[in-house]
Amino acid sequence: MHARTLHELFPSAKLDEPLRRYTAWKIGGPADALLEPRSAEEAIEAVRKAHEHGIPVTVLGGGTNVLVLDGGIRGLTIRLARSLVNVEIEGNGVVADAGVLYPSLANATAAKGLEGLEFATGIPGTVGGAVYMNAGAYGGETREVLEWADVYRPDGPDGGEVVRMANADLGFRYRGSVLHEHPDWIVLRAGYGLVPGDAEELKARIKTFRKQRMTGSPNKPSCGSTFKRPGNDYPGRVIEAAGLKGTRIGQLEVSPDHANYFVNHGGGTAQDALALIDLAQQTVREKLGVDLEPEVRIFGEP
Ligand SMILES: Cc1cc2nc3c(=O)[nH]c(=O)nc-3n(C[C@H](O)[C@H](O)[C@H](O)COP(=O)(O)OP(=O)(O)OC[C@H]3O[C@@H](n4cnc5c(N)ncnc54)[C@H](O)[C@@H]3O)c2cc1C
Repeated sequence: MHARTLHELFPSAKLDEPLRRYTAWKIGGPADALLEPRSAEEAIEAVRKAHEHGIPVTVLGGGTNVLVLDGGIRGLTIRLARSLVNVEIEGNGVVADAGVLYPSLANATAAKGLEGLEFATGIPGTVGGAVYMNAGAYGGETREVLEWADVYRPDGPDGGEVVRMANADLGFRYRGSVLHEHPDWIVLRAGYGLVPGDAEELKARIKTFRKQRMTGSPNKPSCGSTFKRPGNDYPGRVIEAAGLKGTRIGQLEVSPDHANYFVNHGGGTAQDALALIDLAQQTVREKLGVDLEPEVRIFGEP
């Protein structure tokens, strides 16, 4: 699509914007057009226009679980982190916009003496990304506290509709949801049902979780866990058992601290990341007979 057409359709979008600036892995080629909408209405309007003109749409939250390929993403990329960021707390109910960062939501709810989202302190992405992934940590998971999500479905009647989807309809599973089958659906906000707790105790729990993270995970750009858990085993354990800790391709390395984190030493490419993912899968399969499935979502063109 011609840059001028994209500019006319989405005047506030940045054109040819390098996405490595927006991903936790610091990897990713350019988005033809990157839009950070200031409201849910602006996001919906942009998606409507894109569909009218046959322009593909990609949604990013915080970019903490994505590998954007080196050729970048064609069409319109909508990034919600930091743009849709309102939180409302009333009684035990919490409503958070899709772009709210999960650790901030953990802090905000704990400070109000509401228990249930402390686990979110370990997950650097957004509310929308956490619904998509059913993100979880420290034994807690999004599906345990989420009551509903408002989802814009462009395939609905009248050029799309916002549907309030109940927890039971979101198809939650280990690191997945029904949204994986509908990549064009967009989570706009989510409602959580929490329980009353002691604010000081909840804050202390968050502090303990944070400390665990600081000692247990590498301090370099990554996408967090590269692979999902294979059955009851741990990807970090099998990758280490296959002798891959410290294996390096280009600037990408299987972290010597935690083998399921593939760290970028600076200037790493998606090609290197894919090669390392491939090598890990092959080696673990050959040596241990275990199949590893990526948790990280892969977008764009090589
Ligand atoms: C250091 C580190 C530690 C991590 N630790 C954990 C952990 O403990 N537990 C865990 O579960 N994850 C962890 N992650 C992975 C990641 O933070 C989670 O998967 C998170 O939920 C992704 O959210 P995001 O907003 O960054 O989504 P993105 O990475 O931007 O996107 C991920 C997927 O969600 C989709 N998506 C994002 N927002 C929306 C939306 N509003 N509507 C529809 N689809 C959307 C995207 O299209 C994409 O397919 C970690 C990552 C890092 C870098």
